[in-house]
Amino acid sequence: MAQVEKRVSNLPATFEWEYAPAPEARDIVQIREQYGLFIGGEEVEPRTKEWFPSISPATEEPLFEVALAGEEDVALAVDTARNAFENGWSELAPSERAKYLFRVARLIQERSRELAVAESLDGGKPIRESRDVDIPLAAAHFFYYAGWADKLEYAFPNRTPRPLGVAAQIIPWNFPLLMLSWKIAPALACGNTVVLKPAETTPLTAMIFADICRQAELPPGVVNLVTGDGTTGAHLVRNDGIDKLAFTGSTEVGKLIMRELAGRNVKLTLELGGKAANVVFDDAALDQAVEGIVNGIYFNQGHVCCAGSRLLVQESIYEPLLEKLKRRLSTLRVGDPLDKNTDVGAINSKAQLEKIRELVASGEEEGAEIYQPKCDLPERGYWFVPTLFTNVAQSYRIAQEEIFGPVLSVLTFRTPDEAVEKANNTPYGLSAGVWTEKGSRILWMAQRLRAGVVWANTYNRFDPTSPFGGYRESGFGREGGRHGLEPYLRFDE
Ligand code: NAP
Ligand code: MG
Repeated sequence: MAQVEKRVSNLPATFEWEYAPAPEARDIVQIREQYGLFIGGEEVEPRTKEWFPSISPATEEPLFEVALAGEEDVALAVDTARNAFENGWSELAPSERAKYLFRVARLIQERSRELAVAESLDGGKPIRESRDVDIPLAAAHFFYYAGWADKLEYAFPNRTPRPLGVAAQIIPWNFPLLMLSWKIAPALACGNTVVLKPAETTPLTAMIFADICRQAELPPGVVNLVTGDGTTGAHLVRNDGIDKLAFTGSTEVGKLIMRELAGRNVKLTLELGGKAANVVFDDAALDQAVEGIVNGIYFNQGHVCCAGSRLLVQESIYEPLLEKLKRRLSTLRVGDPLDKNTDVGAINSKAQLEKIRELVASGEEEGAEIYQPKCDLPERGYWFVPTLFTNVAQSYRIAQEEIFGPVLSVLTFRTPDEAVEKANNTPYGLSAGVWTEKGSRILWMAQRLRAGVVWANTYNRFDPTSPFGGYRESGFGREGGRHGLEPYLRFDE
């Protein structure tokens, strides 16, 4: 076996066959020139009279324009949501609410191909991921929470769960439709109405979702979508008509929001950044671990809050593991997000690309050793070669700060105690991974790792039944599972 592997790795690069292009049809999505705000079940022109473009990060071409919602627009959306809450939605029989959610779930499934292409065009992620991960999981969230809508008393026995009212929700650009689903599905299942702000660079699937709400005949005003930039988000946070705020994004903005809401009667959940450790012990199945490491950090270009961005390798297997990992890196195909063979797509925005470049430069300056496979990048668009750093000290910025790009920092450890200490040496606490054959070691590690999610012998696996969320600078509150209902309910006891 070892011999076969050796022979394969010594083959000249020219022997490897090229993949023929396998582009997904782009014309399955009819992109309009302009999208207004979605308020009260209708498309509304912004009072600001301002619009801004969304571009394709893979080509830099403008795709369409969306409205920039200002303070008045946000106030109108919140009032509309309040009205819909008080005049119907909160009184509706829970089993009827469930029917709407089931309908939305089925429509997401029916329109999954269109949504997948839209997601990849607008955000740059590979179609393979939007098709196989983002969109199916978005539908799964609606199915899952539809099931809870008429069983809330069973989720919280001996308590009386009631909806909060108007839920304001702000989401980032890395999983646009999935984050929308994580937010909207539990909020509606619990009987709330919603005002959601999509991220500036990725509003397209939210605009298609508005159409899905119409198709599902969701009562007007139950879901409202206000597109815009950070200022729109800030207006939503400041609006005094909201009862709940759910935010997913950076720790920096999360802190601003907490300050703004201090002393106000608004229930808050924050899903923020991370710098997760992916810990590989010497008894792990190395080839599987390599796949898990790659999936952990290069999935979605590393634009993943729970990405396994710090690899901790037990010293005794450092060399063979790194050799396998580097070889695997050289097989990753970077390029056109709409090509079904693409593994790593475009970086979501120019600003994000600059942030990644700056942190990678700091890694080189601080003394880490950089490895990047040979890789032809398209001429236009925002791209970054999958990168790994060795010789990384724990104090380096690339070991401390969230890069949110396809960049892995490799560190080593000798004993399980050292692994725990290094893994927990971060202000964040969102996720972690453990690779070992020993079940007892998995449990030992899981007890000690200060992270909301610990994956064992897998990574970046998501499931609507499983709660997700962080500790410390990664935020608080859980999304997913029965736990994900609680932030949208009050209990009059
Ligand atoms: P971000 O700048 O914090 O933006 C997140 C959202 O907040 C966007 O919709 C953004 O609008 C809006 N926003 C910006 N400034 C605001 C303000 N002052 N008040 C209210 N809203 C404001 O984060 P990002 O750079 O887009 O996203 C990446 C970050 O999200 C990473 O740190 C990542 O770890 C985190 N994230 C966490 C999770 C999780 O579940 N824990 C999941 C995904 C991402 P614009 O887009 O218009 O600027
Ligand atoms: Mg875009």
